[in-house]
Amino acid sequence: MSVTMETLVSLCKRRGFVFQSSEIYGGTGSCWDYGPLGVELKNNIKRVWWRDFVQQRADMVGLDASILMHATVWKASGHVDHFTDPMVDCRECRRRFRADKVDEQPWVHYCPATKGNKFTIPAGEPCGHCGARRTLCPECGKGELTPPRQFNLMFRTFMGPVEEDAAVTYLRPETAQGIFVNFDNVLQSMRRKLPFGIAQIGKAFRNEITPGNFIFRTREFEQMEIEYFVNPNDTVAGRPADEYWHERWIEDCVGWFKRYGLREENLRLREHDKDELAHYAKRTADVEYRFPIGWSELMGIANRTDFDLKQHAQFSGKTLTYFDEDRKAHVVPYVIEPSAGADRALLAFLADAYREEEVRGEKRVVLRLHPELAPVSVAVLPLLKKRDDIVETAQKIRDELAKRWIAVYDDTAAIGRLYRRQDEVGTPYCVTVDVQTVGDRDKGEAGDGKVTIRDRDSMDQARVPIGELVPVVGELLAGGEWTKIAARFPAVKVS
Ligand code: ATP
Repeated sequence: MSVTMETLVSLCKRRGFVFQSSEIYGGTGSCWDYGPLGVELKNNIKRVWWRDFVQQRADMVGLDASILMHATVWKASGHVDHFTDPMVDCRECRRRFRADKVDEQPWVHYCPATKGNKFTIPAGEPCGHCGARRTLCPECGKGELTPPRQFNLMFRTFMGPVEEDAAVTYLRPETAQGIFVNFDNVLQSMRRKLPFGIAQIGKAFRNEITPGNFIFRTREFEQMEIEYFVNPNDTVAGRPADEYWHERWIEDCVGWFKRYGLREENLRLREHDKDELAHYAKRTADVEYRFPIGWSELMGIANRTDFDLKQHAQFSGKTLTYFDEDRKAHVVPYVIEPSAGADRALLAFLADAYREEEVRGEKRVVLRLHPELAPVSVAVLPLLKKRDDIVETAQKIRDELAKRWIAVYDDTAAIGRLYRRQDEVGTPYCVTVDVQTVGDRDKGEAGDGKVTIRDRDSMDQARVPIGELVPVVGELLAGGEWTKIAARFPAVKVS
């Protein structure tokens, strides 16, 4: 069963992942705020991406460029003149649509064959009664659409106190250009040899004509981008270096998404057709994911050739080349650009993790998030919140675990319900402190100093001495198998 967008939106709001921006004022079109759990999940995605693609690779470095840049950057990059989408307006209801997406929406039809009847007809299909195809506005079904006009997607703003043309600049529509303009700074300061890459994670802004589908398409979003510079004169494994590295990056990116939980059957690669390719691109492949709205782009991996560096060299008058020691010649590197959206990645991870299961006749909602992505790594729960010694022990354990991982303490419900709540937000492990742990002073019974640890996916439990909890949780969160832990520590029968 695949999850619907409505179910995800409602889970995200109810459990503090994502809220509508400025909700108390009626909300802002297509802007979303990440709540307490959402910010942890998104930070985890960005953290593992940065660790895996920047810190663990010898051929990568990072950068954090500013959002506001010199206005000429956007002239040189082509964004001022070409970063446009064709839009059409409805002459009746004044709604605006992307001309190239209009036919992908269901449309409203007043059917002459069935007097007075208004129908919503699925995208791309004709009316089942009269056979008509959509010619009017897909929303109101009445208005003619204007011919397409080009609409620039960049947000314009002014730098400084004077709102005059000279001060015009833009909120960056992609993080990539911050990397290109710093190419030489990084090359010189870090003494890099080709091939090497520069990565950046940051906000980007696009005045999308038709934003929507929750956090899939918004006007403010975050990108995780890499510009990987290669020597176009080199050959690797019998192929031109740019083609070889393009293929490698496609494999690495798809592999990364799989490693953190996206199922193979929900991922596919889509090559851009020749007529769809940007004029400077040699090849572009999109990694598509089967979102609740259907197959859509999760990220793009483009071979941008030497276009960007040459443009910036021309507009800035600076030399942006690499000195090839072997050939004793300057060369303008080619660039492979893996570009992913952090918000789209989060949506894909959530959608893929969502499961509804039946457990002993009851519905269980569980997010099977990868342990390194889960917003809470471990929850510590007291079996009885009225027993001070149990509460105190549980809080101490939480404090100890919180030094290394995201650990929470919760005593706001009975244990069964606490487990269900943690399952619903994807917490991979829960630790429960009970009477056996601390003993019973009144009866003169000593505790065994052990706690119950519960695995989210199997719901199995094992009893672990408090002193061994940190290494055990550490092993599990580092990818250790539950069955190995369960084999070392006696299992507890689930009541
Ligand atoms: P689309 O065709 O969906 O508009 P794009 O091809 O314009 O996307 P790119 O310019 O290649 O997107 O941007 C790289 C990545 O940034 C996308 O694959 C996506 O993950 C993310 N992204 C782009 N636009 C948005 C947006 N409006 N909201 C959220 N994420 C976005």
